[in-house]
Amino acid sequence: MVKDRFGRPVKSIRVSLTERCNLNCFYCHREGEWHRHRNEMAPEEVERILKIARALDIRKVKFTGGEPLMREDIVDIVARAAPLMDRDVSLTTNGTLLSKYAQDLKDAGLMRVNISLDTLDPEKYRKITRNGDLKDAMDGVHAAIDAGLNPVKLNMVLLRGINEDEIERMIEFSAETGAILQIIELETPVERENTQFFKKYHVNPKFIEEHLEKVADEINYNELHRRKRFRFKFGSRMAEVEIVRPMHNSTFCMYCTRIRLTSDGKLKPCLLRNDNLVDILGPLRNGASDDELLEIFKEAILRREPYFK
Ligand code: SAM
Repeated sequence: MVKDRFGRPVKSIRVSLTERCNLNCFYCHREGEWHRHRNEMAPEEVERILKIARALDIRKVKFTGGEPLMREDIVDIVARAAPLMDRDVSLTTNGTLLSKYAQDLKDAGLMRVNISLDTLDPEKYRKITRNGDLKDAMDGVHAAIDAGLNPVKLNMVLLRGINEDEIERMIEFSAETGAILQIIELETPVERENTQFFKKYHVNPKFIEEHLEKVADEINYNELHRRKRFRFKFGSRMAEVEIVRPMHNSTFCMYCTRIRLTSDGKLKPCLLRNDNLVDILGPLRNGASDDELLEIFKEAILRREPYFK
């Protein structure tokens, strides 16, 4: 296993497959990919890069975007990844196209899924996503559960004045469906923290965590992510909730074991930085050998450093 200069092993890769999306969430960080391009990787290119990752003992992949289900070849991509990434193949999706793909993805080797769901109110959903239909996302949640993807996690980005009042209802929904609720802090690079936008919508979820600590029926510890998992009983059902607090969280960065790949084939050591990318797709297309690609990958790992120290 290769470690970066800070002794952090790299165990997983988050691969953006496209920057295209059928929604347009007003707060979206676009996985830190701000430039417009249509230079997407072909399935065999993704596979080759994952083979290099695997040679470095990276055995977990999460596909993202844009919206990864905008890729019509998504099932093929997952099928190619599954034998290589034996610890975990997952994807994060807005869920709106999932009812079409959930079973085929499961059959191709997808293990689990994160579905973005910031609200259960159709009108708010329409506003946040700038015209999305909540029903499509809900159908996606049910399709994922029916297909046996496990766990299904619901990503709820906490937005001041928009969905803070829905936490209880979201916890109930998590019990109803069996999905795990992840309440996620709005994230931005430090140079944008003082923008009106960020100040308006950012909420520090610490107070929610403190409240859940008092009212949860059980509290477990998620060793992998170094965070608490709060459990609530609803009759015979259980709701599970995690709080993801990336901002100014040195523990979050210290235990980060992830590297990213942008949809145009650049290794990206950190979501919040764009000044240290390493192009791997260009050399791959220019005929680089596996050994050369391996060196490129190692270079990207060496460029990793904790964003919040
Ligand atoms: N379209 C897919 C989806 O909706 O999951 C994949 C891409 S989306 C960028 C991945 C996740 O990042 C979503 O759960 C989304 O809510 C979250 N996200 C987007 N912008 C964010 C931000 N500024 N802070 C925290 N999370 C964010």
